[in-house]
Amino acid sequence: MDKIELKAYGKINIGLDVIRKREDGYHDLDMIMQTVGVYDDVIISREDGTQTYEIEVSTDADILPNDKGNLAFMAAKVLMEAYDIKSKVKIHINKRIPIAGGMAGGSADCAAVLRGVNKLFQLGLTDEQLQEYGVKLGADVPYCIVGGTKRAQGIGEILTDLPTPPKCYVIIAKPDAFVSTKFVYSHIRPAQIENHPDIDGIIESIKAGDLYGMCEKIANVMEDVTIPEYPIIQKVKDILKSNGAVNALMSGSGPTVFGIYDDEEKAKQSMDALSGKEFVSQLYLTKFI
Ligand code: ATP
Repeated sequence: MDKIELKAYGKINIGLDVIRKREDGYHDLDMIMQTVGVYDDVIISREDGTQTYEIEVSTDADILPNDKGNLAFMAAKVLMEAYDIKSKVKIHINKRIPIAGGMAGGSADCAAVLRGVNKLFQLGLTDEQLQEYGVKLGADVPYCIVGGTKRAQGIGEILTDLPTPPKCYVIIAKPDAFVSTKFVYSHIRPAQIENHPDIDGIIESIKAGDLYGMCEKIANVMEDVTIPEYPIIQKVKDILKSNGAVNALMSGSGPTVFGIYDDEEKAKQSMDALSGKEFVSQLYLTKFI
C-alpha cells in the first residue's frame, strides 16, 4: 500500500463544563463529545528510498500552515521519528471542518494522520498507543482517534464510552467571527461558574433514548465568555431555535453553533433561513456519527 485516504470527522460538544484550572495551566473539563458527519479528506501517500524522513503537507485552505504549525505534519513527524521511517510522506487535506471553530478540526486531521501512517507503514499500533502519541500533540487528539459518543474528562484525554444519542438531524453553522481559544480559556473563572451543566443528566437522557430530555439539558459554560463578546453567536442560535431546532448550542470554545432537530423538514427550514446570510460562513446539515 502506498496511498491511503481517510475521513477526519469533526466533533461537537453536547455538554461542556470547566471544573478547575490546574497547576500546569491546563483546565480540567467534563464534556460530552459527539462526532458529526462533517469531515476533512486526508490523503496520505508514501515514497520510499529517501535518506531520512521527509514530510510534505498541502491543504486547500490558504490560511493553514504547511509545516510543523500544522498538526497533521506533527502527527507524521512523531511516528516517523519514533519508528525511524526513511520515506517521503505527502499529506493533502481538503478542509470542510470550520477552522478555529470549536470542532477540533486540527485534532481530527492529526488523529487521521496518526491512524494513516500506522496503516501505511504497518506499524501495528493499537488505538491506545496512538492516543498516547496523540495526547502530546493536543488534548482532543485521543478522542479523535476513536470518535463517536464519549464523556471526556481530565484535559479531554480520559474517555468513557456512551451510547449513541437518539436519531436526530444536526445543523452546523459557523458564524463569521474569529474566536481565539486562548482568549476563552484566559477569561473563564471556574470557581465563579454558578450554573454547571448537568453532564450526568445529559448522559441519563442519552441512555434512556430521550432526545428531548437530552436537548433540554445541553449546555456549554464557555458561552458565558464568548457570547457577550460575539453576539452573533446568540443570533445564530436564536435563528436555529425559531426555525424548529429542539435546542441549539455553541460547540467547544466557539464560535460554531449547532442545532438539533427531531425532523428533517424543520432542519431544512433552518438551512433555508441561514443560507446566503453574510454572517454565516459555513453551513451543513448532517447527523451524529
Ligand atoms: P478545538 O475545538 O480543539 O479548540 P478548533 O476547532 O477551535 O479546535 P482548529 O480548527 O482545530 O480549532 O485549529 C485551531 C488552530 O490550529 C488554527 O488556528 C490553525 O492554525 C491550527 N492548525 C494546525 N493544524 C491544523 C489543521 N490541520 N486544521 C486546522 N487547524 C490547524
